[in-house]
Amino acid sequence: MLLYVFLGLVFIGTIYFSIVNYTSTKKFVLQSVERNTEVLLHNFIADVDRFSLERTSDIELLAEHIPYVMEKDEDVTLFLLKQTEAMPNFVALSFITPDGMIQSADGNHFKVQQQGYFEKALKGDVVFSDVFRLNQDTSQNVTSIFVPVVNHDGETVGVLSGVVNLSDIVSELVEKSKLPGTVFLLKDDDVFFTSNEDVSFEETIPHSDQLLEHINGQKVGNWNDFEDELRFIKYETTWNDWVVVVDSISNQATDEIRWAFWQSTVLVVSGIVIIVIIYLYLIRLQRREELQAEEDLLTGLGNRARLESNIAKKISQNSEAIVTFYLIKIDRFSEVTELLGYDVSEQLLFDVSNRLNHVQKKINAYRVGDREFVITADYDSLERQKKFAAELVEQMAQPIHVGQGKFVELTVSIGVRTADIKEDMNVIMQDALFASREATTQGGNQYVYFTDQLAQDSEYQRKLTNNLADALSNEEFYLVYQPIYSCAENRIVSFEALMRWKSPVLGEIGPGQFIPLLEESDKIIDAGRWLIREVAKQVVRWKRDGYKDFVVALNVSPKQLRYESFLADVKQILAETGVNPSNLVFEVTESIVVQDTDVAYEILKSLNELGIETAIDDFGTGYSSLSLLKTLPFQYMKLDRAFVMEVLSDGGKSEAILKGLIEIANSLNLTTITEGVETSEQLEILQKLGAHRIQGFYFSKPVVPEKAVTFLKD
Ligand code: C2E
Ligand code: CA
Ligand code: CA
Repeated sequence: MLLYVFLGLVFIGTIYFSIVNYTSTKKFVLQSVERNTEVLLHNFIADVDRFSLERTSDIELLAEHIPYVMEKDEDVTLFLLKQTEAMPNFVALSFITPDGMIQSADGNHFKVQQQGYFEKALKGDVVFSDVFRLNQDTSQNVTSIFVPVVNHDGETVGVLSGVVNLSDIVSELVEKSKLPGTVFLLKDDDVFFTSNEDVSFEETIPHSDQLLEHINGQKVGNWNDFEDELRFIKYETTWNDWVVVVDSISNQATDEIRWAFWQSTVLVVSGIVIIVIIYLYLIRLQRREELQAEEDLLTGLGNRARLESNIAKKISQNSEAIVTFYLIKIDRFSEVTELLGYDVSEQLLFDVSNRLNHVQKKINAYRVGDREFVITADYDSLERQKKFAAELVEQMAQPIHVGQGKFVELTVSIGVRTADIKEDMNVIMQDALFASREATTQGGNQYVYFTDQLAQDSEYQRKLTNNLADALSNEEFYLVYQPIYSCAENRIVSFEALMRWKSPVLGEIGPGQFIPLLEESDKIIDAGRWLIREVAKQVVRWKRDGYKDFVVALNVSPKQLRYESFLADVKQILAETGVNPSNLVFEVTESIVVQDTDVAYEILKSLNELGIETAIDDFGTGYSSLSLLKTLPFQYMKLDRAFVMEVLSDGGKSEAILKGLIEIANSLNLTTITEGVETSEQLEILQKLGAHRIQGFYFSKPVVPEKAVTFLKD
């Protein structure tokens, strides 16, 4: 934003600077042209004046001599001839007697032409005549200077006339000054000289007749204000009524202004070009950022945002389209990560995304979750969709090389959902995810169609989620307790507290359904805190009622355990209820221990320090890491129901594992609790193997506290 403002300012600045540059250059050029015009005009006036004065005094000097030679006509002629030769500035010299007869230097006699001027001179004035054509050479425009000739007695005895060609002189001056423009020399409204023969006064000077009128009124002046134009017309009248007009159209100045104009234009254009380039660059940068924001950094696939924007694009193209979503979830990926580390699992994700991209040409693959991918495809026949889904499953199951000759086989669970493109994306994704979960439940490595049945299930799931929201505050949870039998003591020595939910809308719901939902929504933290408090209160009540020598185990979910105030909450409950911590056992599953070993260690140790014992739950189902058992502070090892289930039917395999696990527990000083014992045969084998404690339907299902406590009486 700031950058755009800056660019805008630079842009305005460039234009402003160019305009200023242009106008100031223009102003300067105009001023200097005007000044030059004035200087020229003055120089001209001065030169013309000087020339006229010099010639006048030349003639006056000669006039003083005439009385000495005027006795004889021949003498006058001779004198004039001599002087003409000596004074090249004069075209002709002649003496005019008072009767108007001209005695010229070449000896001719003729009548004076400019009678008026002559008579004025005869009265004693120095007079400059009009311009006229020279008798002897009609191509020359000339003027006469008439000076009175006065004898020794002071009588005017004639007039001496000198003919001068002013235009010769003026052109000399023009050449000398290298005038940029045109000079006109006028006398009595007649132009008799121009510095440029190709130009006529009437044609070039705008409204020339008005100018002439103007000149008659004023001695010095400007003609027309040509505002922005590079043109000044100025005039001035000499003492002897010559008018000099200078018209200053100068190419050089025009060039200068044009140059300034181009300079400014180039400046503005290059400014604009630079700004446009920067702007385009920024747009590109922004676009790239936008693209990156829609990109999964690890795999380079589009992310959820890209998926949504692509769908939006598609809707704008064809809102009737039908699209198939393939939600691909890698099976047991967190376990793979636990086992092989983050580096390898990242490489696996990269390889998987590569494969997805190449399953078919022109495919749109996205990574929408940690281990979830989505492929969207245009509508196709059901048969072809199934073929494609099967192909995906098969391709994904191919072993992936992870270096050093090692291969990993990943499988995927795919949920397929065909949807009207305008349907709510969230719903579509939830449904596809639901279908993929179904595929996982069925063992993974397969695809599941989002069918009507699943739609109903999914709908039910949504209902569960909605109703679960207020279950805790509405006191819809309650606890049941399952007794645990000690083989050594031959009695019930403990209980496992298990949560139940009775929804007024949906009825009795099993923990397998609602616990994962509580986990997803973080509500497990509040529910878990409630659970610990309920159990503590129950223990206190039982103790008050006189029951001794028992412990109650409760399940702590991974999220709950990691919650920042977990330990503080526990301490508070201990203090508040006054329960003896040694009556409590906290069960945690393997996954938390493997994922966050350090954190888990600290918390478990703190629990032990408080006097609370700890158990590792469902041991043997995940990627059990035996070395962790060594380091982590557990007192109990709960062996998963899965081993007991098959102990009689798998030809001794489960038995061997149970045997091994019990041995390990013994050597690590852990008490084993074997879960899921339902029959006396199972119990017998376990007792033979040396199992410490047994939990299962054989003794009792989880029951309400009033019932549970009866087990302690026996
Ligand atoms: P779990 O912690 O492994 O709990 C033992 C489960 O095995 C209980 O199921 C119990 O009813 C069942 N069970 C015990 N003996 C037998 C048997 O002989 N045969 C069979 N088929 N099942 C047996 P339940 O109560 O449905 O709980 C399921 C899981 O839900 C629990 O597994 C636990 O992970 C979770 N859960 C239950 N209550 C809570 C709770 O309060 N907090 C947390 N965080 N999780 C809980
Ligand atoms: Ca448990
Ligand atoms: Ca268990």
